[in-house]
Amino acid sequence: MTTPRSIDDLKALISDRNPGEPEFHQAVGEVLDTLDPVLVRHPEHLDLAIVRRIAEPERQIIFRVPWIDDSGNVQVNRGFRVEFNSALGPYKGGLRFHPSVNLGIIKFLGFEQIFKNALTGMPIGGGKGGSDFDPRGKSQREVMAFCQSFMTELFRHIGEHTDVPAGDIGVGRREIGYLFGQYKRLTNRFEAGVLTGKGMSWGGSLVRTEATGYGTVYFAEEMLRTQGESMDGKTVVVSGSGNVALYAIEKAHQLGARVVTASDSSGAVYDPDGIDLELLKQLKEVERGRISEYAERKGGAAEFRSGRNAVWEVPADVALPCATQNELDEDAAITLVKHGVRVVAEGANMPCTSAAINVLQRAEGTLFGPGKAANAGGVATSALEMQQNASRDSWSFEYTEERLRTIMVDIHARCRETASEYDRPDDYVLGANIAGFSKVVEAMLAQGVI
Ligand code: GLU
Repeated sequence: MTTPRSIDDLKALISDRNPGEPEFHQAVGEVLDTLDPVLVRHPEHLDLAIVRRIAEPERQIIFRVPWIDDSGNVQVNRGFRVEFNSALGPYKGGLRFHPSVNLGIIKFLGFEQIFKNALTGMPIGGGKGGSDFDPRGKSQREVMAFCQSFMTELFRHIGEHTDVPAGDIGVGRREIGYLFGQYKRLTNRFEAGVLTGKGMSWGGSLVRTEATGYGTVYFAEEMLRTQGESMDGKTVVVSGSGNVALYAIEKAHQLGARVVTASDSSGAVYDPDGIDLELLKQLKEVERGRISEYAERKGGAAEFRSGRNAVWEVPADVALPCATQNELDEDAAITLVKHGVRVVAEGANMPCTSAAINVLQRAEGTLFGPGKAANAGGVATSALEMQQNASRDSWSFEYTEERLRTIMVDIHARCRETASEYDRPDDYVLGANIAGFSKVVEAMLAQGVI
């Protein structure tokens, strides 16, 4: 293998070594593209060896997950845990259960998680896991059987000082409960800090459920503040209707904004009167149904719109993509800019394509907040849950929410300070990548070639 001499060489090398993983290439490429100025300023990194190490997961685990469905048939899924980087602390990151999951998706998420976790200022490394299991349409018993089988392999790889999984798409409190129960049974240890996103009566933290959505809105509010604005009175478009979207809508409403959209894979709802959050929660969390029912039940001016870009075609001051990767493409970005969007903050992981980010960053008067900064509130609150578990304590909602808000304000400030050092204060991509990268690199260099 030849030694890479430039960022482009390195990108080519990483693509060659990880074939068939376009999302991973995209995530690595987006970070590497912002590192040129660091490499110029810190020639000690110029051999690029440290970047090569960061792009290689410390450990990748792939395993069979057999389980029996309600008809008595044996089903087989694939499980993953990518333990990417432990320079700052135990691997930390969610589990995603979704049919689109493959190794490349988990690697992209794990890679993003390293820098996101570094930005929170908490002592957590980066990891991610999941399975191609599709929870949609499965009975409670099937979900439990799957979770128990998944943990029957995963338990030997995790631990409160080793690797601490949590939820992501398709994994919420119910799944964390089944996973925790099986871990406890297999190890005979009530090790509360081994998983986060737990229920309140068995070691969970208040605000963890709301944290990613709330944090994204706090971050967007800080971005608006740099322009002398606030969320109050703003029209907001949100995509998705899962945990992140629901609580982004809730916090945006609390701060005086009007959120007019939500979506799922079947399409979007546009409700000019403002999304009725109780109805949406009932539909998506309790009934686990489709969003198309929202308009029928709500009545009034609410309408269902199909099409990939339905959410982004609605004129808005603030756009919060909270669904999934690559959901907001170049055309959608052009439409948002045409309608005068002021702030786009990513609640999901990598929801904007690289081309969309280029459009948003070039547009005069538009600020773009990347997910590794804007959605870090979820994992930050997981770290707060770990703190409470370690001290066998349980904090109030108000105190925990204030800690979350302070963390988001600090991340925002760190992004801007770092970007300002390179004379681009509004470039949150540069700020987030360099601030996160520098912290991890410093720790890795201190710990030697391991
Ligand atoms: N899945 C969330 C994320 O993407 C949270 C991870 C965690 O709490 O460990 O950051």
